[in-house]
Amino acid sequence: MRNLADLKGPYRFIMIIVKNIDALQRHLDKARANGNIGFVPTMGALHEGHLELIRTCRKENVQTIASIFVNPAQFNDPTDFQKYPVTIEKDILLLEKEECQLLFLPPVEVIYPHGFKGTAYFDLGDLDKILEGRFRPGHFQGVCKVVNRLLDIVQPTRLYLGQKDFQQCMVIQKLIELTKKNTVVRVCPTKRESDGLAMSSRNVRLSESQRKTAPLIHNTLLRAKRQIKKGSLLMIKQERTAILSEAGFRPDYFEFASLRDLAIKDTWDGEEKLVALVAAYLGEVRLIDNMIIN
Ligand code: AMP
Repeated sequence: MRNLADLKGPYRFIMIIVKNIDALQRHLDKARANGNIGFVPTMGALHEGHLELIRTCRKENVQTIASIFVNPAQFNDPTDFQKYPVTIEKDILLLEKEECQLLFLPPVEVIYPHGFKGTAYFDLGDLDKILEGRFRPGHFQGVCKVVNRLLDIVQPTRLYLGQKDFQQCMVIQKLIELTKKNTVVRVCPTKRESDGLAMSSRNVRLSESQRKTAPLIHNTLLRAKRQIKKGSLLMIKQERTAILSEAGFRPDYFEFASLRDLAIKDTWDGEEKLVALVAAYLGEVRLIDNMIIN
């Protein structure tokens, strides 16, 4: 019998891809017996930000499971859903390169056997009414629907999310508390391009000139972090919004919020832990970013 290490030639990791729950459960039963399961849910069109989540998950768990599912329930804008980039073959190769053990790739009827417009409602308090929730009504209820379903199916030990979607991380943490799940949330830092632009699947929809303007969104956060001082925050918010508008953005918001509960802050006592959050359109593409201030 030959030793694996003696085998010559290229080594290729083979990832298991499953599309239905029965096949997934069979693999999960075996995987669970071997150790912790880490889960990285995505909507595909993978970039380095997603791959960093996979790498962190691989380091911290015996089994890494990714999912790709473009969730129709979380798109408040039908055009955004239709234009969402799909690059599934490339995604599979990228995941295999990272040695992700299993990809769950369900069709919509597996996730929503009764349709995605059902009446399930998650009481998130103010969390889904402010910031993104205010400008994208129903978005976080849609996120909760899909994450709740995926967590019920996969039942991972740990769930890997990106700080890029700061409010989403808080919403999912709240969902886990509400539904009394055992999964631990791990939030990983935002991965950026060399000019500071937060990586996003939607960035490919920016034109060449919009792509050059886009890093201003990150710069405006950096500037706010340097500018902030005890007292009123209104001047900074207005100034940052005006700078984005002058550069051709259509800002939805530039806000400071408490790191603890995301309550919007107009004044600062110089002590409370804050995060600055921004959302703005550049042409048809909506960009979001955030930065922890202190
Ligand atoms: P999405 O495919 O956009 O739904 O994102 C899937 C996961 O990747 C979410 O937890 C996102 O927060 C995370 N993510 C997206 N972009 C980045 C990034 N630039 N850096 C780190 N995580 C990210």
